[in-house]
Amino acid sequence: MAKTAISPTRSENYPEWYQQVVKAADLAENSDVRGCMVIKPWGYALWENIQRRLDTRFKETGHDNAYFPLFIPMSFLEKEAEHVEGFAKECAVVTHHRLEPNGKGGLQPAPSAKLEEPLIVRPTSETIIGATFARWVQSYRDLPILINQWANVVRWELRTRMFLRTAEFLWQEGHTVHATAEEAQEETRKMLDVYAEFAEGAMAMPVIKGEKTAGERFPGAAATYSIEAMMQDRKALQAGTSHFLGQNFAKAQEIKFQNQAGEFQYAWTTSWGVSTRLVGGLIMSHADDDGLICPPKLAPAHAVILPIFKNDEERAAVLPYCESLKNELSTQEYDGEKLRVRIDTRDLRGGEKKWQWVKRGVPLRVEVGPRDVASASVFAASRLMEKGVGVERAKFVADAPKMLGELQQQLFDRAKRARDEASVVIDTLADFEAFFAEGQPGGLAYAHFTDGPEMEAKCKALKVTPRCVPLEPLLGDDGAGECLFTGGRSERRAVFARAY
Ligand code: AMP
Repeated sequence: MAKTAISPTRSENYPEWYQQVVKAADLAENSDVRGCMVIKPWGYALWENIQRRLDTRFKETGHDNAYFPLFIPMSFLEKEAEHVEGFAKECAVVTHHRLEPNGKGGLQPAPSAKLEEPLIVRPTSETIIGATFARWVQSYRDLPILINQWANVVRWELRTRMFLRTAEFLWQEGHTVHATAEEAQEETRKMLDVYAEFAEGAMAMPVIKGEKTAGERFPGAAATYSIEAMMQDRKALQAGTSHFLGQNFAKAQEIKFQNQAGEFQYAWTTSWGVSTRLVGGLIMSHADDDGLICPPKLAPAHAVILPIFKNDEERAAVLPYCESLKNELSTQEYDGEKLRVRIDTRDLRGGEKKWQWVKRGVPLRVEVGPRDVASASVFAASRLMEKGVGVERAKFVADAPKMLGELQQQLFDRAKRARDEASVVIDTLADFEAFFAEGQPGGLAYAHFTDGPEMEAKCKALKVTPRCVPLEPLLGDDGAGECLFTGGRSERRAVFARAY
């Protein structure tokens, strides 16, 4: 059996493989604070590239960035009943504003500095932003308001896993206000499309766009839409959500405006978010038993050049060659951006150095030794090639963007093939149970359903959830059918899966 850079392999122990990839690719590490991670430079660079592309799309679709407080007065949360119920169980609460000596050489919150009203560390910002919007909105002329915030949020999650579910995470949250329900619904769907295009186009991660069932809705939302991806272990990942909030938050927070007829009415709001979870989705979509594979569009470096030399004389020939190669490559463009190229001159054994970059998933690796210099060539490999090949230097420089494009496409095709192979149409409860039975690989099951306690109980027993009701028919006929759980009439199929 071939030796792999990551141990255990995916088939040996998938969850442990994931942790080892995060470590080997130098993406993040656990911190001294439970559930909170340190994002290391390579991981943060991935996030920055995600941010930059999404931010551009948000602005192209008419949104402006703004920033709101980290703290939310507790009373704000109380105003929307479903919202508070959804988030109360995982809130970090600030109760004091000063520390004092505790008489035993340590510190304690000063009793005299107790806050009159506790502050919540934002788990999401509908309430604080809504209160602000109530002041911004007076007339129909003020609408729509289209705002995005890049921020950190805190949800006291009990079971955490780096990137996929952390207690503190980085995200963006879009918040918009509209004069009509139709406009707000259109916004909700538009941003879902932005997420889906980003996931498929930039992350090379195929997704299903759909609406959540009532039990999976965002607390306080009238409708929640999500993009759902399938990871290599056939579990689903909710990769992004877009909520139509109806007038629920507008009523709770008095977001009212005077319409053209001069009457006061409540506005319609939306919110939508993606988080550092996307980095986890990227890993679990593409990484293999040798480590991470960065989709070229998001890679912190498109190419790394590894100079190989044994003595000063060789070094004197190889390094300048690598420098000029880097300069040439950096003038090339892929997907509208100049190539990001690094040279690794660290004094490390060649093999070790190479494997570090394999594990970090850099799309193109270029090795240059004295013989390559002599023959004006390079030894190049894409992350999906078993071995590198010797190529003429000029040809490699010219072909690099094309190689990146091919790798990006290969990653998408491979992930889509894996998802399609794991997707089935299921029409009986027995087949549903067999598909999700212990020891079976599982996957995505398209089945007719009616939302209710029968479905919930069966899903709970099988540790499965309805991921979404796809907006576009993907598998199975789109017409009405019979609910697996009750035998009642079902208008549409939902996708069911185990999920992160
Ligand atoms: P929500 O506000 O609950 O709709 O969450 C917005 C998005 O944030 C979700 O679609 C997830 O992708 C992501 N998310 C939610 N909880 C976490 C968490 N604990 N860690 C990382 N990402 C999260």
